[in-house]
Amino acid sequence: MGSKYDRRKFIRDQSIAGIGAAAGLNFPVKMININNQASATPALLGGTPAIGHSWPSWPVWNPDKDEPGLLKVMRSGVWSRNRVVDEFERRWAEILDIKRCLTVVNGTNALNASLAQYEVGWGDEVLVTPYSFIASVSCVVFNGAIPVFVDVDPETFQMDPAKIEEKITPETRAIIPVHILGLPCEMDPIMEIARKHDLIVIEDACQAWLAEYDHKKLGTFGHAGCFSFQNSKNIPMGEGGAIVSNDDAFMDRCYSYHNYGNPYGSVAGELSPGAVRIGTKLRLTEYQAAIGLAQLERLEGETELRNQNASLLKSEIETTPGITPYRLYPKVNRAAFHLFPFRYDQQEFKGLSRSKFIAALKSEGVPCYDGYRPLNKMPFLKNTLESKYYRKFYPSAKLDYNRYMEANHCPLNDQLCEEAIWIPQNVLLGDTNDMKQIGVAISKIYENAESLK
Ligand SMILES: *Cc1c(COP(=O)(O)O)cnc(C)c1O
Repeated sequence: MGSKYDRRKFIRDQSIAGIGAAAGLNFPVKMININNQASATPALLGGTPAIGHSWPSWPVWNPDKDEPGLLKVMRSGVWSRNRVVDEFERRWAEILDIKRCLTVVNGTNALNASLAQYEVGWGDEVLVTPYSFIASVSCVVFNGAIPVFVDVDPETFQMDPAKIEEKITPETRAIIPVHILGLPCEMDPIMEIARKHDLIVIEDACQAWLAEYDHKKLGTFGHAGCFSFQNSKNIPMGEGGAIVSNDDAFMDRCYSYHNYGNPYGSVAGELSPGAVRIGTKLRLTEYQAAIGLAQLERLEGETELRNQNASLLKSEIETTPGITPYRLYPKVNRAAFHLFPFRYDQQEFKGLSRSKFIAALKSEGVPCYDGYRPLNKMPFLKNTLESKYYRKFYPSAKLDYNRYMEANHCPLNDQLCEEAIWIPQNVLLGDTNDMKQIGVAISKIYENAESLK
């Protein structure tokens, strides 16, 4: 309570300074950081924004450091996958401490291919989270399987391990833990359940580069881990993805699959030459890999900074009633913080709606969003269950949409999707004072909730 009082007093003092400056009175304004002159009036109502500068832009690109490697590739004329892609794969596997890495065109196809190469598909059920990006579930229906939704723990934003076993049936074949927002899932119980029921584990680590659970990198717990290098992600290449695994036979199948089904390693086959299996083409280019290698140079430093700023920001905002930041599981020693999430309780803000809170926070100079809609309620699931191939393959009782919806109801996730607010990762590349000012911005909105309604 003490710190809350102090903050209010702090804001009041700053607002007096602000008035003094505005009235042209002789206040010692030079003693005060310009940002701290934010008056207690919210920016949305005409006050000074808590943060008056722009945030670090994304993606980061340093011409002096980053362009020589890229130019070398461009001038070589070797643009299809070759040594630079090999080098990126070697580096990423080494960083994660895993045997193999295969790059592919994007994270979506890393997931699609991983399920396909473990033959998770027609006739199978796959356990998924309703709180994620579409690709975490579309990979299941892409392969002909049926997604089964496990409700979340709203405190951590992740699939709740305590709710997994009740969803397991004789058809359950795999589980996709998604380390959503870059916050780790609770891997010990998930892996224990997977072992007990003999399930394939495909980690969707598409937001979880360098995050660790029990001092082990995410993406290395399951049979396979999938990553994305899309432009907004913490390793931006424009587009790109990767599959990592310690399973050589699986990785050989993935390599073959990503290269038209051509022979590779243990899938060379007896009948060569010629494609040995169903394949497609998912190859990364040399210039994407050159961009990726440049990004890897700063990933460690950026990740460290995001972790430090996230814990500072958390402590700055959790004292405000109605603001509940993420919780990390006890064995998490590092997150990736692709996003910084908190839950917003509008009752504590005198009924100020989430969308109005977001508008007010944005006008204070803090980028923020309301995040995911429930995946289990999206129309693509109805379309899938009604599709020609699903109707051919599955008994009609299994495809009854109303029954499916009822069985996959996730009430905690429904509520989470109403309450969540995200701050994007580039904000966490700001400085210590920036994090404090975000706390000031939220306090201002809290104090003025009534007039912001
Ligand atoms: C971005 C993302 C994907 C898909 O990756 P793309 O490279 O955009 O195809 C999958 N899962 C999650 C959780 C993601 O954030």
